[in-house]
Amino acid sequence: VRLSENTLSCLPGDVARPGYDRQELSAGIFHFGMGNFHRAHLAAYLDELMNRGLALDWGIVGGGVRPEERAGRAVLADQQWLSTLVEQSATVSRARVIGSMLDFVPPGEGAAIIERLSRPDIRIVSLTITEGGYFLDADDRFDASHPDLLADAEAPESPRTVFGLILAALRVRRDAGTAPFTVMSCDNIPHNGDVTRGTLTGLARLQDPAFAEWVAGNVAFPNGMVDRITPATTDRERRLLADEFGVTDGWPVFCEDFRQWVLEDRFPLGRPPLEQVGVQFVEDVSPFETMKLRILNAGHATIAYPAGLLGIEYVHEAMADERVGAFLERLEQTEIIPRVPAVPGIALDVYFSEIRRRFANPKIGDTIRRLCLDGSNRQPKFIVPIIRDAIADGGSLEGLALESALWCRYCAGETDAGAPIEPNDPHWETLRPIAAAARTEPARWLAQTSIYGGIGDDARFAEAFAGWLDKLWRRGTAATLEAYLQ
Ligand code: NAD
Repeated sequence: VRLSENTLSCLPGDVARPGYDRQELSAGIFHFGMGNFHRAHLAAYLDELMNRGLALDWGIVGGGVRPEERAGRAVLADQQWLSTLVEQSATVSRARVIGSMLDFVPPGEGAAIIERLSRPDIRIVSLTITEGGYFLDADDRFDASHPDLLADAEAPESPRTVFGLILAALRVRRDAGTAPFTVMSCDNIPHNGDVTRGTLTGLARLQDPAFAEWVAGNVAFPNGMVDRITPATTDRERRLLADEFGVTDGWPVFCEDFRQWVLEDRFPLGRPPLEQVGVQFVEDVSPFETMKLRILNAGHATIAYPAGLLGIEYVHEAMADERVGAFLERLEQTEIIPRVPAVPGIALDVYFSEIRRRFANPKIGDTIRRLCLDGSNRQPKFIVPIIRDAIADGGSLEGLALESALWCRYCAGETDAGAPIEPNDPHWETLRPIAAAARTEPARWLAQTSIYGGIGDDARFAEAFAGWLDKLWRRGTAATLEAYLQ
């Protein structure tokens, strides 16, 4: 059955569909970045509320700034903005049709987007525009020199960026006496609300300092921590949906069954009752972010590089490998989890058990190569802060040193079996010769202060790193992991 409003009633019985009348929905949210994560996350939470007869005035209108989004929009338009979401545990896959999206203003049509954003019914503007969408420099600060921002600073009435569009609409609302909407980032960035405020007010300052003051004083930017592994859609997913569920959808979304959203409750114009579908509202998301960055993201890095060097393709296969799985277990238990500050209401060992289960889920098809990507940006966020804590607390850092050595060894560009590793970092060309030189001069690797800061000067860490790197080159990944595990 081809998915559309007219065929909803003919869908196979095991495909859940909206239990509400979509004619009765009205708009409340404008969303930028109608990609996969949004449809597995905010759109799904709202669909669940709507199925309970709640949040019917919080329908979603989409928008975007990139011309390549037109293709996805055309697919969604053909199915009246309906999407099939397939939620997969290791053993069970469930398909449901999400009906919470009402419209999608054509990407790039700035005037139409500003007009829609200016109407009082829009009370929340939400974002999943990727980490790269926030105009941050290498130190995660607002980068005022980006040409797109400079263009929006010059011509605020015809903006190109998401932030330029939001500002243009806020100005219309302010002049019309319409209260400003809340701006809610759902991107995977620590303190994403603060970062969004920094970029929005940064651009506003380039346009008009008084207006920037008004934005800073009147617009709310709740921070939130989001989590749900959602790979990109390929023909494989389209085919699986047709074969297993009998539904033809031009752009379905497949994701894991787990989801988490911890959010600060700052919504001056109100919000959907998300707490009724599992969203946790807290005063401060920082402890939750630290937990995720350390136990989940540093955990991903821990399995990524040994698995990459051993030639393992999928994350669930790495988890099934005795040595890699045991390395994760030991490192988390002895050097990572003890360095995660307490999180209200969460037992860290239970959180880690869930992560172990998620990583081992064979249905997700997540690749080791994806986890190995961009270490030069990820190591400083996920691993280096834990090493810094270990240096300060004087406790064990052997496993962290081994993780760092594995990343260095990976960047030399060859697996243990001698197969080439294709470039897998924006700075690959810089990293590779340093990784090769580090084989005999390990200090050269840690001297990359943009990644390691000053921790290369700590003798205990530098020595442990050098020892493990030497073992990796002489004895290979498998024997080195075994040595660590003994
Ligand atoms: P996606 O590629 O499916 O969608 C990204 C959307 O952002 C697209 O609509 C794209 O056009 C738009 N976009 C990209 N760069 C932009 C820019 N510079 N300005 C404006 N729009 C831009 O990706 P996705 O899987 O939906 O992930 C999007 C984001 O969601 C991630 O970067 C991450 O921050 C967050 N997230 C994703 C996952 C996941 O597992 N996929 C999990 C948690 C959080």
